[in-house]
Amino acid sequence: MTSASSPLANALAQLERAVETLGYDEGTHQLLANPRRELSVSIPLRRDSGEVEVFHGYRVQHNFSRGPAKGGVRFAPSVDLDEVRALAMWMTWKCALVDVPYGGAKGGVTIDPRNYSQAELERVTRRYTTEILPIIGPEKDIPAPDVGTDEKTMAWMMDTYSVAMGHTVQGVVTGKPVSLGGSLGRAEATSRGVVHIALAALKHRGIAPTNATASVQGFGKVGAGTVKFLADAGVKVLAVSDQYGAVRRAEGLDYAALAAHVAETGSVVDCPGTEAMDPAELLTMDVDVLVPAAVEGVLTEDNAADVKAMIVVEGANGPTTGEADAILNEKGVLVAPDILANAGGVIVSYFEWAQANQAYRWTLQEVNDRLAERMRTAWDGVLAASQKHGVSLREAATVTAVKRVRDAHEIRGLYP
Ligand code: GLU
Repeated sequence: MTSASSPLANALAQLERAVETLGYDEGTHQLLANPRRELSVSIPLRRDSGEVEVFHGYRVQHNFSRGPAKGGVRFAPSVDLDEVRALAMWMTWKCALVDVPYGGAKGGVTIDPRNYSQAELERVTRRYTTEILPIIGPEKDIPAPDVGTDEKTMAWMMDTYSVAMGHTVQGVVTGKPVSLGGSLGRAEATSRGVVHIALAALKHRGIAPTNATASVQGFGKVGAGTVKFLADAGVKVLAVSDQYGAVRRAEGLDYAALAAHVAETGSVVDCPGTEAMDPAELLTMDVDVLVPAAVEGVLTEDNAADVKAMIVVEGANGPTTGEADAILNEKGVLVAPDILANAGGVIVSYFEWAQANQAYRWTLQEVNDRLAERMRTAWDGVLAASQKHGVSLREAATVTAVKRVRDAHEIRGLYP
């Protein structure tokens, strides 16, 4: 069921609003609202104990009018078909907005990876890959990491696909280990992009980074790097959380200390030099920039009115419900939407795919410079559109992206 504040309801409402602004007819609306292809699979796992457990997995290809479908694979207990549909749609808009030649897709397995051994996760990944194999490929659909998956998962996916093809196919996934053809700079690309947008937003609001404070929800693939790069830019990060709890430090958190503590214990909780805090409070702390960098639906109608940050940068996909978005806009909070703010990951995924296809590696400097340029161009475009039309950054970004996708449909024509 799609509840009013579910990710899918949120994604569909954003699309509907963009379609209205653009004046498209209902047929075009439906063309953009419905995924092109969906695959549901079951994944039997032989556990280390010898017992068999069956999981559900999905791959949804929302759109491929601008190029192959592209998007991550999520391993999380929350995964269901509707969540994957929403995330796939957001990938379509994200790729169009930052003008990488892809459509959008997403995959997932309903599993809590924390409860399984590495060997079990490898078997789940390989079986999932085998099940979705007919619809993925470097020219069809290119998976990447997302919540609960990482470069190791991508190595297993690439290997499984390559064994089935009979030769090594590096371009089938992105976010691979660098030793297997992954791009330099991919691992921290999403965080770098988030911080490019945070700094652009601070500049727009006339706040110097060295006078700014921030709080970051999440210390995973997106949150950890965000803390680091914000601190490198001089922003004081006052609080950070993960799935186990939250910590704060009035003088600003020390990224190296946090990273060392996480490497040792698996969590930011009890990091020396920090104080424990209520993770829910982190979202309503008195800071300049709030970065939700974990999961969907954390800013809701229940807490949005209490948000004190004047800038929200969405490191996660869909962290703000529609109701919360309206409240934040009403309060004058500048919300840098997910499809803009966290696009750094897919931008460098595109660089990785391009490097694999050319069999030519770029330097880290080249990757980072091109990423920065694309993020700045996207920010400038979205800001200009929002000012021109008097709409929020999210509406401006969605309208820009939806129009690009619809224009691609229009030029290609409907066949047959
Ligand atoms: N999972 C990331 C996202 O949501 C990256 C997707 C990709 O690189 O394909 O944007």
